[in-house]
Amino acid sequence: MHHEVRGLVLKCVDLGEADRLLTVYTKEMGVITLMAKGARSLKNRNFATTQQFCLADYVIRARGDKYYLQESSIVESFFAIRESLSGFSLGLYVLEALSFVTTAEPEGELLRLALNSLYAICQGEKSLSIIKAAFEIRMLAIIGFMPDVGACSVCGRCDGDYYFDLIGGTLRCRECSEGAPAVGDEMTSGEATPVCIITESVRRAILYITECPPTRVFSFTLGDEDMPYLEYACEEYLKHQLERSFNSLEFYKEVKG
Ligand SMILES: [Zn+2]
Repeated sequence: MHHEVRGLVLKCVDLGEADRLLTVYTKEMGVITLMAKGARSLKNRNFATTQQFCLADYVIRARGDKYYLQESSIVESFFAIRESLSGFSLGLYVLEALSFVTTAEPEGELLRLALNSLYAICQGEKSLSIIKAAFEIRMLAIIGFMPDVGACSVCGRCDGDYYFDLIGGTLRCRECSEGAPAVGDEMTSGEATPVCIITESVRRAILYITECPPTRVFSFTLGDEDMPYLEYACEEYLKHQLERSFNSLEFYKEVKG
């Protein structure tokens, strides 16, 4: 049986003499594993469309529980992402995080977020810090881990600094968190529930990222003094919600120094 799908190559493993085994996140079928026979041969017509960072239309055939690639045509490639090591490492993180959270259930907004993130990295107009933080929080919101950052969850105020509960995704203002350290003391407190400190600007940025239209996810600015709090909060929230880190994330951080 034939299917026609559009998808982004998340992973590409070399097999045998010239074959490739791909993990493709498709618009129609969610994640699929796709065997591309002979695709590593330069003369193969599927050579370009079977590499990481490629969005393509694929004609695939199901045999047993496997899919085999027949024909393909490129829709968009993000190969330019390899031009900068930090951009490349962030791109790898986008793909690795996606491989972990995606299922056989199609999720158009998630695919669009990944494509927009790769596009923004290639464009180089937005800082990688903004792209990374926005990608993390928006992805979590899409898959069901929407943080509740409208106001302090105890008294409802929305100004000053907050403690962001990395498990529950809620906020408490300083007054409702008696005895906890202040902003600038340290990023995390020693409480049993892991929390991190965020400022009012960071709260607004997170709220914006989760509520804005899909095409506007990176369209915000944040002061230099607030940015480390946003970066830290988004990354830690992701690690706590997914209960893991990623090799590509550690690689990105190493590259960024
Ligand atoms: Zn409060």
